[in-house]
Amino acid sequence: MSALLALEFVSTIGMLRTGPVDRLADVAETTTWCREHAAALRVDPDSFTATETLRDEIVELRQAIRALFARAVSPGPASAADADRLPPFRPSLDLVNATAMAVPVAPMLDWPDDDVPVAHVVPAVSAGESERIRAVLAASAVELLAGPYREKLRTCPAPRCVLYFVKEHPRQEWCSVACGNRARAARHYRQHSADR
Ligand SMILES: [Zn+2]
Repeated sequence: MSALLALEFVSTIGMLRTGPVDRLADVAETTTWCREHAAALRVDPDSFTATETLRDEIVELRQAIRALFARAVSPGPASAADADRLPPFRPSLDLVNATAMAVPVAPMLDWPDDDVPVAHVVPAVSAGESERIRAVLAASAVELLAGPYREKLRTCPAPRCVLYFVKEHPRQEWCSVACGNRARAARHYRQHSADR
């Protein structure tokens, strides 16, 4: 689902057992992440290669989207990964909108000689690779934040987790089973150490 691409995008800031991790930390990792999402981002899964500029521009957009996510989950807490150094809300909103609008898309009918016609969504204007990738990501954020997922967006409260997630059922408290187990273990430990 295209709205959830924005969630995967902001989740490039995550947490491993060893500590915080940024999957867009350098050009090589950005290349890997974009190739993993090649179909959604409309890039070549084999030859796409990020540049330093592209990485910087994508990271700037990610931080703007994270500022919007922080507002979406309030009054709940924002992700602890960068809550204290997010860009301000209004310029972030302007950046996301301008980025999405920079590359409008249109349907294109592809009709091979020996097959049925299929529609593709393609950029309606010529644009550079970074612009096109960012437009897809920004449009996904617009879709998520204006749609039914916004009310279900949460920051995972498990110890050491910094992920946003979409609650799939009403009783879901954590982003994953692993986080649930860790949070329950921490709660159990706290209760038992208080007994002593
Ligand atoms: Zn979690």
